[in-house]
Amino acid sequence: MAGKHVIVANWKMHPASLREAKKLFEATRKIADKASRVSVVIAPPALFLTPLSTGYKGKKIAFAAQNAHEGDGGAFTGDIAVAQVEDVKAHYLLVGHAERRAAGETNDDTRKKVASALYYGLTPVLCVGEHVRTQNGEHFGFVRDQLKAGFQSVDPNAVGKVIVAYEPVWAIGSEEAMSPREMHEMAIFIRKTIVELHGAKGHSVKILYGGAVNEQNAAQMLQFGDVAGLLVGRASINPKEFAALVESIQTNS
Ligand code: PEP
Repeated sequence: MAGKHVIVANWKMHPASLREAKKLFEATRKIADKASRVSVVIAPPALFLTPLSTGYKGKKIAFAAQNAHEGDGGAFTGDIAVAQVEDVKAHYLLVGHAERRAAGETNDDTRKKVASALYYGLTPVLCVGEHVRTQNGEHFGFVRDQLKAGFQSVDPNAVGKVIVAYEPVWAIGSEEAMSPREMHEMAIFIRKTIVELHGAKGHSVKILYGGAVNEQNAAQMLQFGDVAGLLVGRASINPKEFAALVESIQTNS
């Protein structure tokens, strides 16, 4: 995927049926096939992951689980295991998405999940981001704590395998994304923090931006935000919007 913009399509709890998921996948596949500068990672609901990932024979799309338990099995009703995610040909795992954190996931949970994903050969996408911003810059400390915990059990040699998705909670699901200039500042901070904690390998960590990404702001964010890609929620479940977004990246970034 090196050199291409990574676009993670987080379908969240959509769509309502496997039939619709297959339709959405087919539309996304056609969009991805035409976009030479973009690599698409689809994160469907866990129930739809297997039929989509195991049925796909192409190379343009990779798959992610939206969440998984760090163990390889056990008495955890309702959970899916990282080992099971790997078994159904997914290559990425979202860890600590704001909606999981809102449901109780802690920084320590993210530490275990990142380490487990790496153990099973998956690429963890560690989601971080503050709830609010104030004048005194407290959000930097908040993000630092999330990064510190998420990377805590990562072997120094594996640091560059973790992707960080910076998603300010106030931008997720909102009307307006953060500005590329502010993202650039945050990207510098994220890299500096990882390098401080884990050494030079931190320079190679890919950073994504997420939060109200659409066809109007995607290309600008990639050009000026110092990010390797985007994590897209709403715009990824509407094929027209997603096509326009990918097209804007293809022609303008
Ligand atoms: C998300 O799901 O992480 C997200 C960024 O959502 P949206 O693009 O809808 O703001």
